[in-house]
Formats: sequence, C-alpha cells, structure tokens
Amino acid sequence: MKVKLRNPERLVDVPGPVSVHQMLATLDINPETVLVIHDGTLVTKDHVLPDDARVEVRPVISGGAGPAKCTHCKAPSIIEIARHRAAYCADCFTDHVRAQVRDAVRRYDMMSYDDRILVAVSGGKDSLALWDVLLDMGYRADGMYLGLGIGSYSDNSEKIVRDYAEARGATLHLVDLAGEYGYDIPQATGLKGRSSCGVCGLSKRYAFNKVALEHGYDVMATGHNLDDEAAQLLGNVLRWQTPFMARQSPCLPRSETMAKKVKPLYRLGEREMAAYCVIKGIDYVVEECPMVEGNTVLRYKDALNELERHSPGTKGQFLFGFLERARPQLFPDGDPEGHRLVDCAECGMPTTTPPRQEAAGTEPVLCAFCRTRGRILQVVQKAAR
Ligand code: SF4
Ligand code: ZN
Repeated sequence: MKVKLRNPERLVDVPGPVSVHQMLATLDINPETVLVIHDGTLVTKDHVLPDDARVEVRPVISGGAGPAKCTHCKAPSIIEIARHRAAYCADCFTDHVRAQVRDAVRRYDMMSYDDRILVAVSGGKDSLALWDVLLDMGYRADGMYLGLGIGSYSDNSEKIVRDYAEARGATLHLVDLAGEYGYDIPQATGLKGRSSCGVCGLSKRYAFNKVALEHGYDVMATGHNLDDEAAQLLGNVLRWQTPFMARQSPCLPRSETMAKKVKPLYRLGEREMAAYCVIKGIDYVVEECPMVEGNTVLRYKDALNELERHSPGTKGQFLFGFLERARPQLFPDGDPEGHRLVDCAECGMPTTTPPRQEAAGTEPVLCAFCRTRGRILQVVQKAAR
C-alpha cells in the first residue's frame, strides 16, 4: 500500500494487508501523534488496510486506544481517546467536543450568548475548529487573521481562513503585520534574545488585543488546546517561571486595556481537534510552519506524548491538577505583576516596568511589543540602506 507521510511530505510503500496498528509499528510512528485516514475516513487501530490501500498518516501530536465500537451508541467507532477510555462514532465525537467546550465555558464563566467574541484564527486545525464549534453552538463569533508574511505558508493559511469565513457567512478581520506594523516574521529572525516564534507570539497577542478593543469585542478566544497548555506549563515548571505560571489560566479577566481572554479548547487534545476538522470537512493547514525550528514548546509536547503513550491521562492530570488545585494555592492573588502595570509611552497599552527602568525611574516605559518592534525596524532599515 502507499502511505502518505507529512513534514516532509513523502510516499512510502508498506506491504499489506496489515492492521493500522501494525502499519504504524512498521513505520516506527507513535500512535499518540497521528490520525490515520483511509479513503477519506478516520480509521482506528484494528482496522485492516488492504495491500492496494492509499493511506494518509496525518501528524497531530496526541490520543489513544480503546474498543472499536462507539462507547455511547455502539455504532462502529472512528476514533479512540484513551484519556477518556472511550471510542466515538462521528456524531458522538462531535457531541463530545461540544460538551468539553461547554464544560470549559461553564467552569470559568468564559462567555455568554450576548457577548461579541473575536476568535484568533490562524488557518490551523485548532482555531478553525474553535470558530466552527462556537458558531454551531450559536455564539456571536467573528474571526481575525494576522498575516505573518511567511511566504507560501502564510498565503495558504490566509486563503483557507477566507474560504472558511465565506462558506459560513462569518465576519473576518484581516490584519497584515507588515502593512500595519512595518515588519514580517522572517525579518525578525536572528534578533538577539528573542526567537522568531517569540516575536510571532508577541505580535499575535498584541494585534489581536488591539482589534478586540478597537471593535468593542467582549471576549477574545484562542484555539490553545490541552497539549499546548500542558506543554506551556511543563516549560514554565522546568524553569520555575512563577510569574508565567501565575498568569496561566484558561480565562483571564478583562482589564481597562486588555480584552477578556479565553481558551475554550483547553480540555481537548490536539488529536481531537484534527479529528474534528476531518469529520466536519474543515480544510486546514496541515503543513508545518517553516520557522517552527525555534519553537521549544514542540519538544515539551514530544516529552508529554511519550508519557501519555504509557499512561493515558497524564497530560490532563498535569494541567487540570495545576489549574484546579496548585494554582489557587500557589497564586491566590492571580497575576503578581498586575498591580505594577503602566501605560506604554508609544502605544498606550499596559505594560510592566522592567526592574532596571523602575530603579532609574526616568526613561519612558515601552511595552514589550513596542521595544521589540523598534529593534526589528532598526534591523530592517539598516538592511534597506
Ligand atoms: Fe509563528 Fe513560530 Fe508558530 Fe511559525 S511556528 S506560526 S513563527 S509561532
Ligand atoms: Zn507599546
């Protein structure tokens, strides 16, 4: 059979018939990290693939093993989620995703049906699935896409987001990083002290918040999932970055200059979001961002997936235990930096005072975004001369 693998994209031959489980073992692929698609349909580990099959192994990073029948309705299952010791048919799986979002919204009082919600959409599976779930559940959700200027990867992402918005008749805000702020992500490569992904994350947070405030949105929603949040927490714990740990929450309240921020997918894994998109026929960017090498979070995801493979549920216990038990005990006052916020002298957004500047007390204080943007623009202008 021909098996299509991604990142990099390639076709390999595997002799059949074999079960999905055997095929993955032959290719030395961790089943936790992929979805297997045969004839356009998701298949589970015991499904037998004939010798003439054309199969796609789609990376998602997360998942499991379980019975072959839907745990809820006993129809044939298409996906197993070991963490829940359950398997689902397409309809019950869609219900499961909505139930997890509903649970997240209720636990943290994230949003109401009256709220205007802005979803940060990148073209990836998580943010498109989030937008889709919120629209299906009847929320007033608009989208925002930030053009990062990463060649064909960005062009492709933008087209996918535009097509989705058009098909759903949903409102989409398009912002171009270069057009609005004078630089793109490839130009930020090599900046001392900040990786491209660091600049990218900072730029996204800033631009989304700005649009949310300018257009009077009540809530800003991002597609961060269980894998993202558990990896983030692991990174913070490994370095004991306690201020970041204090701020790590699926729901950060609104302040005068920050829109309320929510992560309704924090109880759902990456593999679940990819499966949701396949089931709902949502086209999303499967290729990896070409600048991903600087992204340390991926290494933490790999480590957590290895743990999850041997004891399903580890990721959830790690993250939910922190959010529900450790965080309220360790950080009863929430964000310890919150009370030291001042307005950025350039853009007026809130920022913390860097300790050195606080001691000197004279220079105007710039926010992290304006400081970083200033440094990138200097490099860009120098290169143009
Ligand atoms: Fe941005 Fe890095 Fe993600 Fe690429 S991999 S979109 S540069 S954060
Ligand atoms: Zn600023």
